[in-house]
Amino acid sequence: MINILSIESSCDDTSAAVIRDGLLLSNVTASQSVHEEFGGVVPELASRAHQQNIVPVVDAALRRAGVDKRELSAIAFTRGPGLLGSLLVGTSFAKGLALSLNIPLIEVNHLQGHVMAHFVHPADSMIAANPKLQGIEFRHPAFPFLCLLVSGGNSQIVLVDNIKREASKDIKREASNDIKREASNNIKREASNNIKREASNNIKREAQTQNHTPSMTILGQTIDDAAGEAFDKCAKVLGLPYPGGPWVDKLAQLGDATRYPLAKPNIPGYDYSFSGLKTSFLYSLRDQMRAEGVETIDELAAKVPNLREDYCAALQTTVIDILMRKLKRAASDLGICQVALAGGVSANSGLRAAMLDYARRYHWQAFIPPFSFTTDNAAMIAQAAYYKFLDADFCPIDAVPYAKTTI
Ligand code: ADP
Ligand code: MG
Repeated sequence: MINILSIESSCDDTSAAVIRDGLLLSNVTASQSVHEEFGGVVPELASRAHQQNIVPVVDAALRRAGVDKRELSAIAFTRGPGLLGSLLVGTSFAKGLALSLNIPLIEVNHLQGHVMAHFVHPADSMIAANPKLQGIEFRHPAFPFLCLLVSGGNSQIVLVDNIKREASKDIKREASNDIKREASNNIKREASNNIKREASNNIKREAQTQNHTPSMTILGQTIDDAAGEAFDKCAKVLGLPYPGGPWVDKLAQLGDATRYPLAKPNIPGYDYSFSGLKTSFLYSLRDQMRAEGVETIDELAAKVPNLREDYCAALQTTVIDILMRKLKRAASDLGICQVALAGGVSANSGLRAAMLDYARRYHWQAFIPPFSFTTDNAAMIAQAAYYKFLDADFCPIDAVPYAKTTI
């Protein structure tokens, strides 16, 4: 039996999960409200809150899973990207626990974790104890698939493939080519033995390096702000609380998206840009203020009916349009119909609806993970760690967290 405890502490959520043989047993998250009054995450406060939360959160995850720490096979942790002080808390805790239990450590890339949320499958006991997970069909996309990863810090289109299958197919083809070559060219026995030996060595080597962890390739990503960041920053301009994304979502449902047209970027390839949209949002509001002769957003909102709702609708519609057009282009260029959504922004109701709409129009199979596995959570880290465990992909005790990294 493989029991893995995973710890996620990359930003402002302290989360721990336990996975047994690939089935999730528990996922406990403590969110930090301390940042609300500052309109954004304050790194130092986040690290301190992680320190307070980590012991009770890990304890609750183990208790809910019904797993004793002596039954653990490995400890997994988010190594990055994220806030360094926050990552240090999870990393140090994981190292200490792994050392004391004399079990391996597994590092997980937070972004890969978000993609792996699609493979999380809670055990029946966890579903029974959690009404929000009931009635959900846990299915994952088939390989290869595209994943639109949209969070507070990232917006990227990721190609996810099962390299195990691909690699083994290639190796088989290569090996049989070698044998055919040998026959047709009438190569000396010694040489052919070498080829066979080499082919079989390659197969063995590949078999060892073949992964349960899928391969991930970034096809495009934001060159400036992330989608979640655009939501949060524009929401701040509107005087909405932090994080602004969920507020934009709520107000957009009451607004008219056509009243305030916003700029759309013209970026080549599959890359994104949201900074021009943010500036256009700001300038549009500033022009409104000048026209109405007011100084603050509250004064403007008092004069212009439905101001915040209409701006939220315009912002949300524009962000979704930018995201989906590139995703659609990538899907048709690659001829891929399995399309998935991941990251905190996939909680957005408009984006979810757009995914389903595109799926209908372009015959995609769309995958959107349950809400609790889209925002930062340790369940997705546990899932990634489980595959790494099967690959014996462990990390040394001196592994340090990294603030910035790509998939
Ligand atoms: P990160 O890991 O980069 O910190 P998360 O995956 O935790 O990001 O996602 C957080 C982001 O998701 C925030 O920018 C937040 O505003 C955004 N978000 C959450 N819910 C919604 C929503 N319903 N609509 C739009 N954005 C949302
Ligand atoms: Mg995240």
